[in-house]
Amino acid sequence: MSNLRPLPEAHHLMFEQHLQKLQDHHLLRRLRTIDSATGPTAVLEGREVILLSSNNYLGLATHPTVVEAAIAATRQYGAGSGAARLVCGSLMPHHTLEAALARFKGTEAALTFAAGYLTNIGAIPALIGKNGLILADRLCHASLIDGCRLSGAMFRVYHHGDMHHLERLLARRPAGTPTLIVTDGLFSMDGDIAPMQDIAQLAERYDAMIYVDDAHGTGILGRTGRGTLEYCEVESRVPFHMGTLSKALGSSGGYLTGSASFIAYLVNTCRSFTYTTAPNPGSAAAAAAALQIIEQEPERRLRLWENRARLAQGLLRLGFDLAASQSPILPIIVGDPDRAMTMAQSLFAHGVYAPAIRPPTVPPTTSRIRLTITADHTPEQIDRALVILEQAGRAINLI
Ligand SMILES: *Cc1c(COP(=O)(O)O)cnc(C)c1O
Repeated sequence: MSNLRPLPEAHHLMFEQHLQKLQDHHLLRRLRTIDSATGPTAVLEGREVILLSSNNYLGLATHPTVVEAAIAATRQYGAGSGAARLVCGSLMPHHTLEAALARFKGTEAALTFAAGYLTNIGAIPALIGKNGLILADRLCHASLIDGCRLSGAMFRVYHHGDMHHLERLLARRPAGTPTLIVTDGLFSMDGDIAPMQDIAQLAERYDAMIYVDDAHGTGILGRTGRGTLEYCEVESRVPFHMGTLSKALGSSGGYLTGSASFIAYLVNTCRSFTYTTAPNPGSAAAAAAALQIIEQEPERRLRLWENRARLAQGLLRLGFDLAASQSPILPIIVGDPDRAMTMAQSLFAHGVYAPAIRPPTVPPTTSRIRLTITADHTPEQIDRALVILEQAGRAINLI
């Protein structure tokens, strides 16, 4: 029962018909309640499962120091931050975090946002407009695509990781067109890494800017965890980049890091920075604490990669197709969305949660089970998950 006026019948029908159509195509999504921390095991819809779906790669979301930092900042500054940072005054935890991010990444400055999504939909339009051209990898994250569309720039997509295609598009554009190349650093659904050396070279040759989204690489890639640019040894060739606080850093929010004038420019031009309430002080303090742990406890990163190797080798031995994964994101390519759903249901029934990822999140015919592994999973949990994955894979004749 609702105390609001009921929907007019025509509107109700419109919603219901759309949902039915999704259902018919096995593309209907629904929320599942989780009543615990997000990993390495979790209580999902009342059932204890091995969780292979969280991006909390280093287990920092539940690290006692990170949690304590969030509590302490919440006590001191409050649960909410009152208003946007240019309106109410900019809270100390945000400044502390931005200084820590800049130091970690080796840049002059950094700016944080309430979400990675907001970072991308604000920063891209701030960097390029109607007279410009965006060239984006076909598998870019949805928030990048939305940012590109909002910018009003001409928007072209190049085949995933295909540098010949990117170069053709660069060579063909009208002379003098401002150009932004947009890519994930570590791709969120395929787990492979962008060819940053080649992208940097093309950007230099054709005088284009690069916008790298390192949501997944930050904290896990590179010798010291600085991310994809460190891993690909191109930090000195890419003047700024974007990342999130919501994956390996175990908190929430997004950031950009670069020169002081770049950051000051964003403060003055990014609508998704200006017109939204500052992130909670607790989230900012948690992310700052997480950064410190990333620097002080490199063994977490090592454990993550050991776990990744154990799971990936087990899956390959069983005969699963992991596409081109090079990371703790391991897609098991199934193809058909209906079969991917059946496999996900069978996994859940036996105690593993990993979601079926279907269009439009991934291209048609590439529906998959997306696994993510973390530093906190035990070898026993990984081996148990492999047994269940084998059963579920055989049940749909995938292996
Ligand atoms: C998760 C993700 C985002 C969005 O970040 P949020 O902090 O969750 O809003 C942006 N880009 C990529 C590549 C991501 O994986």
